Amino acid sequence: MPRMKKKRDFSKNCSEKSEVSGLSTVCAIATPAAVGGISVVRISGERAFEIAEKVFKPINRTVREMRGYTAAYGKIFDGEERLDDGVLLVFRAPYSYTGEDVCEISCHGGIYVTRRVVSACIKAGAEPAAAGEFTKRALLNGKMSLTQAEAVADIISAQGEQSLSCSNTMREGALFRECERIGEKLTEISSYISAWIDYPDDDTPVVTPEWLTERLEDVNNDFSRLLKNYDTGKLIREGISCAIVGKPNVGKSTLMNLLSGEERSIVSAVEGTTRDVVEETVNLGGAVLKLSDCAGIRETSDEVEKIGVGIMLKKLENANIVLAVFDGSREISEEDERLFGLIEDKTVIPVINKSDLSQRLDVERLEERLGRCVVISAKDEKSIEMLGKEITARLNISNFDANAGFLANERQRGCVLRAKAAVENALMAVKSGITPDAVGVELEESLNAVFELSGKSASEEVIARVFERFCVGK
Ligand code: GDP
Repeated sequence: MPRMKKKRDFSKNCSEKSEVSGLSTVCAIATPAAVGGISVVRISGERAFEIAEKVFKPINRTVREMRGYTAAYGKIFDGEERLDDGVLLVFRAPYSYTGEDVCEISCHGGIYVTRRVVSACIKAGAEPAAAGEFTKRALLNGKMSLTQAEAVADIISAQGEQSLSCSNTMREGALFRECERIGEKLTEISSYISAWIDYPDDDTPVVTPEWLTERLEDVNNDFSRLLKNYDTGKLIREGISCAIVGKPNVGKSTLMNLLSGEERSIVSAVEGTTRDVVEETVNLGGAVLKLSDCAGIRETSDEVEKIGVGIMLKKLENANIVLAVFDGSREISEEDERLFGLIEDKTVIPVINKSDLSQRLDVERLEERLGRCVVISAKDEKSIEMLGKEITARLNISNFDANAGFLANERQRGCVLRAKAAVENALMAVKSGITPDAVGVELEESLNAVFELSGKSASEEVIARVFERFCVGK
């Protein structure tokens, strides 16, 4: 018998009061465990004010007197021992990040002093917060949906402009709204079927196979769109792995240095200089590019260089996009030809380099083999923008509309795959003339998966897995 999973409604619900009582009051350092100007210790829960009052003494007033969204300068104590001076910020439930009473103590940013402030809070009655505990409480208190909570983790790990902006769109509820929209469509179809089955003699609209097919296909298309955008969203969030390949001396290292703005790859006129793979992460046109400058493609007896070529082949296999570099001042050689075979099934941008020299390469012939070329000089800064535009266009990143809602992780994708499979089963049932009640069962399964995606009915296990990737203090 399947194990029953405990489910709770984690839908967005901006309730006036904290809904989750009985939770202990927790505290944690909300800033990195490193030396800095200030550190922040966050306390959240019913006893936040009582605990803050024991640790923090504001000048001229008490913590309890402080209104929400106000700050006070004061002294920080561990019992009788004075630890530091600092600022206390208070938020009164439900108008805080967690929806509970929250106090945030800013102290000087030393690792030792910050730990002492946390330990003083624990002595005063707080419990150490688990990873993601504050965001989890925000979810439990209806401050955000599950997909919005996931977006918080994505905002923290965002490395580039595009991934940050997409995560913010998600944080504002783009995917949650899309789930609601699809959920409403599924509920509507279900209710028509139920009405028709339960009250066939009444004045209920007749559910015809054509009507059902049209509605189900519409929902199926919504799922397809979400799944289609998944890979693009992933590229935006996790970065684009980009292999720079080509025979020796075409200018791969010069290009890598131009894009990364650093002299990392060794540039020289002696063939076979880049023996290993040099890697760099750069921001290009808002996207994060994980560049690998690979060893030159050529037959070699040099053992070390052979290893480099082996690693290059692996990088090539895993690359989202390949910049295949050619020397425009020379004709295509046999070594260039060898490259064609290695990259034919990849997304390739043929880059004709050294445009500042007189050109001998047959561009038309190359375009016939590899598609539209970009002609650049790796010694010219203008090439950066040209390549950035081409990369984002080729990977469809420039057309990506985060506002329409997109899937940000495997959990979300798994839910959509399940929801879509159920709708496809329903479509098959309609085609094979099976009774509408069987269709209704599939619709319910699909709706469950959509609700799990948005968090409207996610199990405790699912929630625990989501918060595993958070840091302590968030
Ligand atoms: P790799 O072996 O493919 O990594 O090639 P390198 O980046 O080491 O460059 C080989 C040689 O070509 C060096 O002498 C570079 O200065 C030169 N080079 C690279 N790009 C250009 C370019 O756009 N124009 C010119 N004139 N020379 C270039």
